[in-house]
Amino acid sequence: MASTTLTTSFSLLWRCRALRGHAISKPLPGISSIHILRPSTALLLPRRFMCHSAASSNEEAAAKAAADTADSGAPTIFDKIIAKEIPSTIVYEDEKVLAFRDINPQAPVHVLIIPKIRDGLTQLGKAELRHADILGHLLFAAKLVAEKEGIVDGFRVVINNGAEACQSVYHLHLHVIGGRQLKWPPG
Ligand code: 5GP
Repeated sequence: MASTTLTTSFSLLWRCRALRGHAISKPLPGISSIHILRPSTALLLPRRFMCHSAASSNEEAAAKAAADTADSGAPTIFDKIIAKEIPSTIVYEDEKVLAFRDINPQAPVHVLIIPKIRDGLTQLGKAELRHADILGHLLFAAKLVAEKEGIVDGFRVVINNGAEACQSVYHLHLHVIGGRQLKWPPG
């Protein structure tokens, strides 16, 4: 049987559930090798591409599925990170917020900042006036993280809100992204 060489970015590979568990260590049937592009190459793919490409339709579906249970109050993966039940690389923490490295970084620096208490803030669109303090605190924490990471002169803060924006975890979070030249407009 002819074998194929599969070239992909690590980012796409990670997002493709069919390939998870096979990446790098296990060959796939009919595929002789998997070339992982350098992370910096993967990062060139804009998020819109990631969200709408055929290879990442799983992500779009996952975002839609996540939206279905957004208001259920069910714990998310971030609750486990806050409780330290699953490991994460924490870069900043205070009494109100936790900042840790994204498991699937889109830039050399990609940190998520979350409120330690969700308090109904599944997404920014659910914010009420009573959340104004924590929202300001999160934004200020983004600046502290940028300073700590050495990117304060050039970084981006992103909040994906809802399925159309590919939000996949319904616990409000800021993405702090930097460490390379970012493109505009975003995807
Ligand atoms: P969203 O798409 O909801 O705006 O962002 C969710 C982010 O959480 C994604 O960038 C995803 O990579 C990240 N993420 C999902 N699960 C985990 C995890 O278990 N650990 C860490 N560190 N990041 C995660």
